[in-house]
Amino acid sequence: MTDTALTQTHDLVVVGGGPGGYAAALYGASAGLDVAVVEKHKVGGTCLHVGCIPAKELLEAASVYRTVSRAAEFGVAAGEPSLDWSAVLARKQQVIDKMMSGLSSLLGQRKVTVYAGVGSLAGAGAVLVSVEQEPRQDSTQNVTQPATQTLSADAIVVAAGSVPRTIGGFDVDGELVVTSDELFQINRLPQSAAVIGGGAIGCEFASMLGDLGVKVTVLEALPSILAGCDSEVASTVRRSFRKRGINVHTDVAVHGHEPRPDRSGTVVRFGEGKHVDVEMVVVAVGRRPRTEALGLEDAGVEIDERGFVTVDERCRTTAPGVWAVGDVVNSPQLAHTAFAEGMLAVRDIKGEPAEPIDYHGTPWCIYSHPEVAFAGHTEQSAVEAGFEVVTSVHRFMANGRAQILGETEGLVKVIAEKQPDGTGGRILGVHMAGPWVTEQLGQAYLAVNWEATVSEVAGLIQPHPTMSELFGETVLSLTGRSLHG
Ligand code: NAD
Repeated sequence: MTDTALTQTHDLVVVGGGPGGYAAALYGASAGLDVAVVEKHKVGGTCLHVGCIPAKELLEAASVYRTVSRAAEFGVAAGEPSLDWSAVLARKQQVIDKMMSGLSSLLGQRKVTVYAGVGSLAGAGAVLVSVEQEPRQDSTQNVTQPATQTLSADAIVVAAGSVPRTIGGFDVDGELVVTSDELFQINRLPQSAAVIGGGAIGCEFASMLGDLGVKVTVLEALPSILAGCDSEVASTVRRSFRKRGINVHTDVAVHGHEPRPDRSGTVVRFGEGKHVDVEMVVVAVGRRPRTEALGLEDAGVEIDERGFVTVDERCRTTAPGVWAVGDVVNSPQLAHTAFAEGMLAVRDIKGEPAEPIDYHGTPWCIYSHPEVAFAGHTEQSAVEAGFEVVTSVHRFMANGRAQILGETEGLVKVIAEKQPDGTGGRILGVHMAGPWVTEQLGQAYLAVNWEATVSEVAGLIQPHPTMSELFGETVLSLTGRSLHG
């Protein structure tokens, strides 16, 4: 397959069809650009295939299992739940397939051309598409499949994403040692697992596996799990993990592991002479940008010492006509940040005023049980930034809707600028742990990013009974008066 098809010309060529890439494509097409996406696997990227969507789907299966286990508390006789792992995986795949088909249709409706193959930069305004295997017929996608093809464009967006990091001594074989890429495909649940890394991925997997009956041990190098989160929020998750039998070791180095001769399990060594015997090791120690083999440096696109593409505040790289978005750049590795960057790049490409993204206000949602959600300063980061602060914490224990659900673990913490009279002024940060807080973050996110004050938010009515009342009550108490708490 050495044929090189004639050059196709587009206004915008996007390399990578994950959230950053497809956001640039959809938004660009809706803004009137003729757009092409080059994708080597399937549109949807890490988020849809081996990230956000499958992880949350499996966490939902864990949530259903938990709920059924407690059905008798509600007077519902459901018996002991049992798990059909292959049915769990099948449902997860159904959700992915439906979403991929929806995304493919949307790209088709917007007349975005999807080239199946590996894209690389090939000089000014050119992208080379190489097809690694026999072209496949795929009726579900709007896919064009030549052999090798050169695309030319006024603008190129690099959105090639990231891959899981690994650690020395833990060779990923997809069975004994897995990363998030493999965990979604395992054909049976292990009885025990060590999760290396207590960040977002590690905690979500630990929570899901633990709730489905796997004996989980989390090994985290830093003094706390969920290191970027408010300390009271991280402690809430850790306490819940402990109650549910998920062991967490923080401040420990992982030294290596010795698989059993039949590879039915392995002994992981960590800390000062400690070890844990498990059937599976899940490595969740972060993700690295996928910036190799893209022809970036030859095209004048600078890559920093950590492998990220260097960009300015409008996602422009060091090469004229080339932008980069999503996990290839050094910003929060989140699908919604990638969406925002994809749209920002398109506005800049179109020569429109493009307001840089305020990453400080990024909404974060972690879907462990209990969930975590936050935006803006933690108490510590606000003080470090020079603010004099006042804080308030209210707990779901006192919330009617949470009692009804029987999910009373967790809290809402609001950090505000302290006014001369001791009450709260501008809301600087909101941090939550508890039931459905990922769905409750919206108003807190707006309050932080709209720079709302305590008195402005306290004057608004919260629906009752809802869990989101807790946010309103927490803000209200910073006025110096309160209702329930
Ligand atoms: P992370 O950086 O959030 O966490 C990795 C953790 O592993 C850190 O706490 C780190 O201290 C620890 N670690 C690193 N090396 C270690 C070692 N050798 N031994 C023990 N611990 C070690 O990365 P992640 O959880 O893998 O997630 C990757 C990226 O994807 C992150 O940016 C994350 O925020 C994002 N993500 C977000 C969500 C979400 O927001 N719901 C979900 C999944 C992933």
